[in-house]
Amino acid sequence: MNVTSRDEERVVDRIDAMTDEVVAFVQDLVRIPTVNPPGEAYPECAQFIGSRLSDFGYDTQFVEAEGLPEHTASHPRVNVIGRLDGGAARPVLHFNGHFDVVPAGVGWTREPFGGRVENGSIFGRGTSDQKAGIAASIYAVEAIRRSGLELHGAIEQSGTVDEENGGFAGVAYLVENGFIHRDQTDYVIITEPLGVGRVCLGHRGVYWLKVATHGRMAHGSMPFLGVNAISKMAAFLHNIETRLKPALLERVTQMPVEPPEARRASLNVNSISGGQPDSGMQTPCVADLCEAILDRRFLSEERFENVRGEILAMLDDLAAQDPDFRYEVKDLMTVYPVQADRDCRLVREVAGAVRDVLAVDPPLIASPGTYDQKHVMRLGLVDQCIAYGPGLLHMSHQPDEYCRIDDLINATKVMALTAMRLCS
Ligand SMILES: [Zn+2]
Repeated sequence: MNVTSRDEERVVDRIDAMTDEVVAFVQDLVRIPTVNPPGEAYPECAQFIGSRLSDFGYDTQFVEAEGLPEHTASHPRVNVIGRLDGGAARPVLHFNGHFDVVPAGVGWTREPFGGRVENGSIFGRGTSDQKAGIAASIYAVEAIRRSGLELHGAIEQSGTVDEENGGFAGVAYLVENGFIHRDQTDYVIITEPLGVGRVCLGHRGVYWLKVATHGRMAHGSMPFLGVNAISKMAAFLHNIETRLKPALLERVTQMPVEPPEARRASLNVNSISGGQPDSGMQTPCVADLCEAILDRRFLSEERFENVRGEILAMLDDLAAQDPDFRYEVKDLMTVYPVQADRDCRLVREVAGAVRDVLAVDPPLIASPGTYDQKHVMRLGLVDQCIAYGPGLLHMSHQPDEYCRIDDLINATKVMALTAMRLCS
């Protein structure tokens, strides 16, 4: 541990003394089963975080995603945001963590929403991804406050919903309503579980699309009288496998994506369905419709127009060769790659704090998948935004998910030193 002042030393010591309290907060959060889909217990979890923020001196408000179709009476989308004013209005350092978790799934040997502590780890769905991160940022700032220190700028903390399905009712909603925006926000740390010893600068892009091929129905005993939509889809997927995928493998990004295999552009066929539903009785028919959902991950070096265009060109080629090849494409979601500047103040301070707490030089990485950073940077125009948090990326969405308590406490220290140095 390398602290640069007596104040920093006091704060770090206080975090050690607060360990039980931080762990208990994570346990309590895990016991609120904020499962998404469908978005269970959001108001309860927002209230729980909000009351802790109020106890810790924040002005707290709840932001419901009014007007969005997913904000329903049975599953309201409620976010919480707190602001702790300091000696000056700027800078504003905003910590954000999502409190929705993916369903428990099968294969657990512990209670998924029990928050059990065992061998120095907290177990449960959402420990790593990412309720430990929420606890770390809240207690990092609380340790500063309990040490009797006032920061120069303001701290904001938000707990948001729906990150796991795009964040539109969560961070995107806060951004669109001006809660997170460069006009009032200087730095954003998203407390996703990228690992306590790493700083994540950004993520790759995503293009989700649905491709439908259309056929013509006929009796299955005389398929020559119809056009089989599944066969047409097979021709398209054959081209994807033999032409597009090898080309994608040749494209490698300069972004430091982890794991390194994810530095190549990729395409995954996420789902496919065609013909009659296979859940019921089948009658002999030539399939008149087949639909596939594709998940194309693209690099910051690729242009989206080309990403989309090369898929459309393959479909057009097939249609040119085969008059029976009819298709439709529907764009489902596009996320552009984002990356903070590795030399910006925020990255330097977080990396420096990691170095001081853990005595390691943190790799600056990028994430293969996207998270809420896209909304902060592309809609909110805050260019100093990164992800840093405790927990293990590979534990996310797994059975027996856990977070190590020493990682949780070290991340809390890193966040505290970062806040003190940015807002001094
Ligand atoms: Zn997450």
